Amino acid sequence: MELEDINTIAVLGAGNMGHGIAEVAAMAGYDVNLRDIKDEFVQNGYEQIEWSLNKLAENDQLSQDEADAALDRVTPLVDMEEACGNADVVIEAVPEKMEIKKDVYGELEEVAPDDAIFATNTSSLSITELADVTERPKQFCGMHFFNPPVRMPLVEVISGAETAEETLDTIEALAEDFGKSPVRVHKDSPGFIVNRILVPLMNEACWLVHNDEATIAEVDSTTKYGMGLPMGSFELGDQVGNDVSFHVLEYMNEVLGEAYEPCPLLEEKVENEELGKKTGKGFYDYEDGDGVDIPTDEQSDLVEKRLIASMANEAAKLIGNDVAPPESIDEATKLGAGFPDGPVKVVDEFGLENALEALEEAYEETGHERYEPADYLQERADEVGTFYDAEEDDDAGVEFEAIRVEYPGEMVGHVVIDRPHRMNTISGELLDELSEAIDLLEDDDDVRAILITGEGEKAFSAGADVQSMAAGGADPLGAVELSKKGQETFGKLEASDLPVVAGIDGFCLGGGMELATCTDIRVASERSEFGQPELDLGLLPGWGGTQRLANVIGEGPAKEIILTADRYEAEAMEQFGFVKEVVDNDDLEDVAFDLAADLAGGPPIATKYTKRAMLAGRHDTEAGLEYEASAFGQLMATDDLMEGITAFMGDGDPDFQGK
Ligand code: NAD
Repeated sequence: MELEDINTIAVLGAGNMGHGIAEVAAMAGYDVNLRDIKDEFVQNGYEQIEWSLNKLAENDQLSQDEADAALDRVTPLVDMEEACGNADVVIEAVPEKMEIKKDVYGELEEVAPDDAIFATNTSSLSITELADVTERPKQFCGMHFFNPPVRMPLVEVISGAETAEETLDTIEALAEDFGKSPVRVHKDSPGFIVNRILVPLMNEACWLVHNDEATIAEVDSTTKYGMGLPMGSFELGDQVGNDVSFHVLEYMNEVLGEAYEPCPLLEEKVENEELGKKTGKGFYDYEDGDGVDIPTDEQSDLVEKRLIASMANEAAKLIGNDVAPPESIDEATKLGAGFPDGPVKVVDEFGLENALEALEEAYEETGHERYEPADYLQERADEVGTFYDAEEDDDAGVEFEAIRVEYPGEMVGHVVIDRPHRMNTISGELLDELSEAIDLLEDDDDVRAILITGEGEKAFSAGADVQSMAAGGADPLGAVELSKKGQETFGKLEASDLPVVAGIDGFCLGGGMELATCTDIRVASERSEFGQPELDLGLLPGWGGTQRLANVIGEGPAKEIILTADRYEAEAMEQFGFVKEVVDNDDLEDVAFDLAADLAGGPPIATKYTKRAMLAGRHDTEAGLEYEASAFGQLMATDDLMEGITAFMGDGDPDFQGK
């Protein structure tokens, strides 16, 4: 079964997750059969979908017609055969009980078409054990959505012991078609990625308090303001639900051993039905509004050390057992739990040796198995010192052909588009090199801003290299690939944590203009000329131009520029707000550099969070605002804030250290 063959999706269970998954699938254009065991349950799920779709329409996230059409695609059903007899994919979201799920799969196998794929939304149960109940373990995998599915971008796609590669590919493609970001989990291991990192972290937070080594205030102050995680550990626990964490731990405890023994403090919360936000009380009290009150200044080194050690140990087990590589762990945790930096990166920065020492110390003191260092942690600490491999020596010696990377000082990294003989047009090779250059500069602690200019005075960049376009253009798939590659590279530039300035001199056309659009601030020389000529060629601005220009100057002017395909003088672009300033031709270089240097002198952490919050909020204001609020809290604890305020009061220039 391939993505193109999928038309009908059956969702089993119309509860919390089931109705959300059905809604996401219907919005993506699939026919959805939503099934629960009683008519009232399935009707309830259907009504929740209706409510949610209308809410999205109210907030202009889709039109009312689209909302109505999506709802029309959902059929609420109780009869198993009716629901699954014609399904191409069945996504199961029934209660998290092995016996219930096994019964469901037994029943399902009787009625589902032979080629249908089964995907379970289980949070912790063994995919392999569930697959064994069916006659199609190759066509069976995990598809773990996060709550609420409509809002959360992450889907963990998990392989069981026998899952076929094609099944995983199809389910991953389906998740993408749902508008989600799938992360592959290569082995069926308890907690998969996100819960495997988060739940032991919350358990460790409980142990610290239970053993009188820290208070709840200290733990959460450290987590939120010291380590820069989006929430305090207890705040997060209350949000997830203490019962959920407890059950995941119980399961891990059973499968993986004593290291995952749930802390008695957590068990007590569950016994007292203090499950967190959903019951009005957990570690904090939510009865009169939001009772979470975390001090910014009660941070403790011990807490930080222990919590990072916990993440280090879990990450080591995931990486060492080939469940997931560092990149996937970081990506999943960022998407699924809103971590600003992935846990592996955090651990690497702390140092594996320090994490190992923290574990050994605690293991010696307490003898508790959760502190027993994983073999792979020991190995990496001894041999490499980090989980991520050092950038392959290419850092020092990357050979760039189409661009140059220079270091003019003042913490500016300067990328020069170096194809003057071809009007600095953008080829596939240039895209690859630009992508590498972004990594190189971002990893360089001495670089705090990027400046991009074009070599020579003719062009910043006159667009895509027509020859390389033609090479792909004859074959539509090649063109799609090239468009995707450009989108990805430009997207990477747009999403860079560093501020980016474009110094534009000469032609800034088509792909070149799309590149400039991805920078944060643009300045231009008087002689510069701008335009998106694609429509004149029967093309469209395919490197993000249809989307990003409108973000910068508004939809009206963006449509004017793209639809007329006209050329615009620099001054006109200044009036549109596309360039900050138009300067004498001879001054451009200095003005652009000064601007980049000025941005490089700004507070790096605040700049990073500001850029991320603005990007996150572009299409989902709520997500952006949430990100903004949590980042605001994190900035409270930075030295840069104190430096900035002190300089402001004293009228001097701040010297930001990025701490
Ligand atoms: P829920 O209790 O809200 O919903 C489960 C639904 O399944 C109920 O409506 C129930 O009536 C129905 N059901 C029971 N037996 C059934 C059957 N034989 N056929 C069809 N429906 C049946 O539970 P939930 O929170 O939606 O969780 C469902 C699954 O999703 C679980 O495996 C859970 O671990 C997983 N999950 C939950 C979350 C979360 O945050 N709630 C997040 C990710 C994954």
